[in-house]
Amino acid sequence: NQVGIAIENAKLYEETKALSLHDSLTGLANRRMLDIIFERNFVKAKRFESPLSVIMLDIDYFKKYNDVYGHSAGDNILTKVAKVALRETRETDLVVRYGGEEFIIVLPEANRAQACEAAERIRRSIQAETRVTVSLGISSFHKGVIEKKELIDKADTALYKAKQKGRNRVEAADA
Ligand code: GH3
Ligand code: MG
Ligand code: MG
Repeated sequence: NQVGIAIENAKLYEETKALSLHDSLTGLANRRMLDIIFERNFVKAKRFESPLSVIMLDIDYFKKYNDVYGHSAGDNILTKVAKVALRETRETDLVVRYGGEEFIIVLPEANRAQACEAAERIRRSIQAETRVTVSLGISSFHKGVIEKKELIDKADTALYKAKQKGRNRVEAADA
């Protein structure tokens, strides 16, 4: 049985190595990795009714930053934002480059309040350590959530609210 597991793991490792699961600029997980990891976390949250939160982060006025300082300075900001997000989260969290200047952080075992704390910590550090600010939207798992897409959508809506309210802030979806 032990040998069987070892062989299974080796196979899985070989398979995932062949896939491209990371973003080349920041080294973060990419969307494909998110699909795999988030699915697992969601199934677990549903089955055991354990906490699970999602943070969506977007850089404020990033188009302006690129226009003023240049695209390669913009790339450096993306790398810095990635580093701060990794540093301010747990090893068991997953930080993903979701799109150009959008990031998703999956926080297993984190409820709404804990996710808000993490998001606020990230927001403050980015403001202190870079020349940009970020807005963050949070959604958290509860019994009424049927599909994992709902969590992403709700985090996106909360992010939109944070932008509307003036940016450089955290908003959580209604519980
Ligand atoms: P908002 O505060 O509403 O988010 O404004 P914004 O300017 O950040 O939003 P918008 O979506 O209009 O612009 C996003 C910009 O992000 C556009 C593009 O110049 C920049 N961007 C996206 N991907 C990259 C990238 O890989 N490198 C660099 N340097 N810039 C990127
Ligand atoms: Mg954006
Ligand atoms: Mg933006």
